[in-house]
Amino acid sequence: MGPEPPDQPRRLGRDRARRGRLRSGITAGVRRHLTFVILGVLVAAGAIAVTPALLTSPVPVPAGAVAQATATPAAQAQSSAPPTFPSAPLAAASASPSMDQNQVPDSLGRQVPFDAPNPALLTGYVWPLPRGRITNPFGPDWYSDNTVGGVRFHDGLDLATFCGDKIVAAHDGVVLAAGRKVDPWMGWIGSLAPSVARRDKYKLWGELPIVIVVDDGNGYRSIYAHFSKIAVKAGQTIRAGEFLGWEGRTGFATGCHLHYGLFSPYATDRFGLRADVVKRTKLPALEIARINPLLVLPPRPAPGASPAPGSSQAPSSSPNPPSGSALNPLVAPPDERPGR
Ligand SMILES: [Zn+2]
Repeated sequence: MGPEPPDQPRRLGRDRARRGRLRSGITAGVRRHLTFVILGVLVAAGAIAVTPALLTSPVPVPAGAVAQATATPAAQAQSSAPPTFPSAPLAAASASPSMDQNQVPDSLGRQVPFDAPNPALLTGYVWPLPRGRITNPFGPDWYSDNTVGGVRFHDGLDLATFCGDKIVAAHDGVVLAAGRKVDPWMGWIGSLAPSVARRDKYKLWGELPIVIVVDDGNGYRSIYAHFSKIAVKAGQTIRAGEFLGWEGRTGFATGCHLHYGLFSPYATDRFGLRADVVKRTKLPALEIARINPLLVLPPRPAPGASPAPGSSQAPSSSPNPPSGSALNPLVAPPDERPGR
């Protein structure tokens, strides 16, 4: 897929702004301005935290969300608080495929807001493609379909070794969905009916990536994409390091790799989908924000080093990669990127 005009999201924003002016004259603009000034004062005073829920929806994800989502693993080392998660929201996460659920029942059954657990508190993650190189990191990326604050953004971590390598679970959990009909579990905000109707009509299901979505049991879901073939089914309980399926290139991928994504159904931040992709696929324009998997994955062992005692990063039973360079956990040069 080649580069396309970069101004789609901006044009949408301008159209929306123009419609707003036509509808209510200049007062709407003034009111909005005042709202932001008041919000700014409150935020500066530390009275409230900024979340998109406080702003008129839909809005670009605030820059702070990107900074948080793209923070380096070093940032998490500052937190030493023990991991504690409320149990009710986790049960809700397992029970319902519905994604627009920033409301969860409290102990009295009332619906109350809930945001995602802090990624710094997540434990128990292992590398899902143990010897994989990072071929496309989480972050701004011209070739990705998603956007953050109007900037094209890769919403996961691409790892690659060779076609047919074994992909394992990054965390304990329960498989929510496996195959090509996984969108209800992927965190879309809005109706999937138009995209489903389009895929049925034009028989497009076979073009989609083979994906596994897992409830990690900690308020987050792991997304594994582009398998050639999978070895688990929905409802199955899995352990970190357990075999999930074979590395492939199903869906939009220029080479065999694993796209690993991580999000909480309770996150209030949103990522966008490029306007041209929304128009073509009829998918919703927003998805729940993803976090950088490097926030939860353990440090890579140095090339050639033996795994630490008790580490789940023991060598797999797969054959050796084609070259020694594949052992280096380096970011590949852009011309080696296998795509989304
Ligand atoms: Zn990817």
